[in-house]
Amino acid sequence: MAEGATGKGAMATVDGTISWAGAQQTILGCLQPLPAEAAPLDQALGRVTAEQLLAGEDVPPFTNSAMDGFAVQTADLQRIAPGQQVRLQVLADLPAGRTASVQVGPGQAVRIMTGAPLPDGADCVVPVEDTASCGEQVAVLRTQQQGANVRQAGEDIRSGTVLLEAGTVLRPAELGLLASVGCGRVAVHRVPRVAVVTTGDELCGPDEPLAPGRIRDSNSTTMSAQVRQCGAAPLLFPRVPDTRLAVRTALEEALGQADVVLTSGGVSMGEYDFVKEVLAELGARPLFWRVAQKPGHPLAFWLLDGRPVFGIPGNPVSTMICLEVYVRPALRRMMGHRQLFRPERDGVLVEGYRKRADGRLHFLRVRVEELHGLLLARSTGPQGSGILTSMARANGLALIPEEIREIEPGHAVRLQLTELPEDH
Ligand code: AMP
Ligand code: MG
Repeated sequence: MAEGATGKGAMATVDGTISWAGAQQTILGCLQPLPAEAAPLDQALGRVTAEQLLAGEDVPPFTNSAMDGFAVQTADLQRIAPGQQVRLQVLADLPAGRTASVQVGPGQAVRIMTGAPLPDGADCVVPVEDTASCGEQVAVLRTQQQGANVRQAGEDIRSGTVLLEAGTVLRPAELGLLASVGCGRVAVHRVPRVAVVTTGDELCGPDEPLAPGRIRDSNSTTMSAQVRQCGAAPLLFPRVPDTRLAVRTALEEALGQADVVLTSGGVSMGEYDFVKEVLAELGARPLFWRVAQKPGHPLAFWLLDGRPVFGIPGNPVSTMICLEVYVRPALRRMMGHRQLFRPERDGVLVEGYRKRADGRLHFLRVRVEELHGLLLARSTGPQGSGILTSMARANGLALIPEEIREIEPGHAVRLQLTELPEDH
């Protein structure tokens, strides 16, 4: 699991907060895949099968022609010497979607289109290119093997065999398999509904005038987008002012509708940070508050009636990192995915990095590029937890472990590649 950079992920850290690996383990230990539902194929892309699926039909369902040509008996073609031909009587035309009413006997042929069922008596198809038309007859110019240009019933999929194992992520090809065996609905894990509740008196939306002292709410947008990007369903709530009543009302509503609640802001030490208090009033069980990391130190996590509630710190970069590192694997587990974590690789930190002895793991936003098989990571610029451009430029995170004070330029660093699909 989330070890790698941090020496086996001890739960407790110097200042008593939980380590990032401990936090991840705690969260994932509380969660299970959501129950199955039958989804129509057009709503199943990217979702995960909840049970093993057996094919209910053969594919193809009947033996048919793989070419436009003539269905014949190979025995008739044995007589063709180089430069010679054999003439056969054409009994009928057989387009795709029809069945033949005639049998092919010696000296006979049926003109057949790709996908049409092979008529009884025929055992191969001669492609049009290897024939010449002569009135009621066809001249076959080249011999064929038995079974040539014929697709056998069940050659792709046999009825009764395992089509998809439980836990399969449905890509277009898997959805196509389901369609091809006549399975129009598939049992997949339900997609979590994720309430996104942003708090803060200072916030205004992207379309509102920016009054004095106000800032734009970017977290509603990034959080919803991150939830959607991992395949879950965001439920965006109206922004919540910093009063106990407003926070309580919003959380009660969110808990009534969602499988997961994400709050933004209000989990620090400020006078107006009500999220923790309100969740305590509502009877939520706190699992941890504060993680030995930067950014995102004030992250909090509760369970309420079995549902996870994440208290996400409000600084825009902290918010995005917490969603990437904690919420995304959690939602993936709930959706039934087995691969929860982004690829981790060793790379080189080109410019180096220095931090004070804060006992925290730093998630450094980096741009990673591969050069001669080496992954080179460069900082995306100023790394403050409010500098959202550092996130926009990044395609990875460099993990600077708790106990490390400095990584010298050109030295090794552990990388998480945040634009690649999860691989473990
Ligand atoms: P908080 O976690 O509520 O103490 O907020 C920490 C910092 O993040 C403050 O500077 C807030 O103004 C800022 N912030 C909080 N919520 C948001 C948001 N939704 N969008 C952008 N910045 C925010
Ligand atoms: Mg706040």
